[in-house]
Amino acid sequence: AKKRGRNNFQFFTHDLNRIADERLNLEAAMRVALERDEFTVHYQAKVDASRRIVGVEALARWTHAELGVIGPDRFIPVAEESGLIMPLTLAVLRRAFRDARQWNLGRAIPLMVAVNLSPLLFLGDDVVDRVCTALDDEGLPANQVELEITETVFLGDDTRAVSILAEFKARGFRLAMDDFGTGYSALSYLRRFPLDIIKIDRSLVTGLEQEEEVAMIASAAISLGKSLRKTVVAEGVENAAQFDFLRRNGCDEFQGYLLSRPLPAAQFTALLAAGG
Ligand code: C2E
Ligand code: CA
Ligand code: CA
Ligand code: CA
Repeated sequence: AKKRGRNNFQFFTHDLNRIADERLNLEAAMRVALERDEFTVHYQAKVDASRRIVGVEALARWTHAELGVIGPDRFIPVAEESGLIMPLTLAVLRRAFRDARQWNLGRAIPLMVAVNLSPLLFLGDDVVDRVCTALDDEGLPANQVELEITETVFLGDDTRAVSILAEFKARGFRLAMDDFGTGYSALSYLRRFPLDIIKIDRSLVTGLEQEEEVAMIASAAISLGKSLRKTVVAEGVENAAQFDFLRRNGCDEFQGYLLSRPLPAAQFTALLAAGG
């Protein structure tokens, strides 16, 4: 038993070293990719109850020449830990604002473009200015932009988070609470924060057509959002049964593979042209 313990320990430290190495490699590769502007953005449609495209979420993508496709679930945490999250976010936002401006030039009703903001950005003192500068540079009005934030933004100094959100709101942005239903205590802040939109997390959508309890929680979350007069969006909608249930229960907007996968800009443009 002793011997096995020791081997396990060696195995464990070996693993940790490998993880640490990987992280450093990834961080170094990210710095290079940012300099070369290699991060791209994919766009996932948001539709209304009649399946018309009303908005789009910008999702960061990275294909490394040797490492291949690296998902945001891997590189966003590295960006957050290494201080690269601000430059990465600004690269994504600029691209998304530029694309949205093009799409909206030809539209009577503009698409809303949603971008994700890491809670860590709220720790610095310049997030509002930086986002607004990117917006002005790309010539997009703030009222065509939704900022998606997660509950963890309120874990630290929440007075500060409130004032930053109020500032964004005053500049004309719409604010969305992302991943609703996954956090620690999703309810008390709903009263204090100037949110326009609640995005029901995929974990409350997946399986709702099979498990009554999931369906009940999803419908309670929608009711809560609606009674607070928020726009309620469901993410991760993968089949017609889920879509119908969510629609019957009052959900306003829908996002998921049933409606569209996240697409490169050119393909999303084609999707819009085909009838969005
Ligand atoms: P999220 O904001 O909750 O984004 C939704 C994720 O669900 C996306 O994964 C999307 O591709 C995926 N998805 C959409 N519809 C479906 C569906 O019907 N079924 C399933 N199984 N999945 C679906 P993705 O693009 O891998 O992004 C993962 C997470 O990485 C995002 O979760 C977001 O938290 C983060 N992320 C992505 N881009 C950015 C960014 O530019 N900045 C920041 N801070 N975070 C980002
Ligand atoms: Ca999101
Ligand atoms: Ca989400
Ligand atoms: Ca989610």
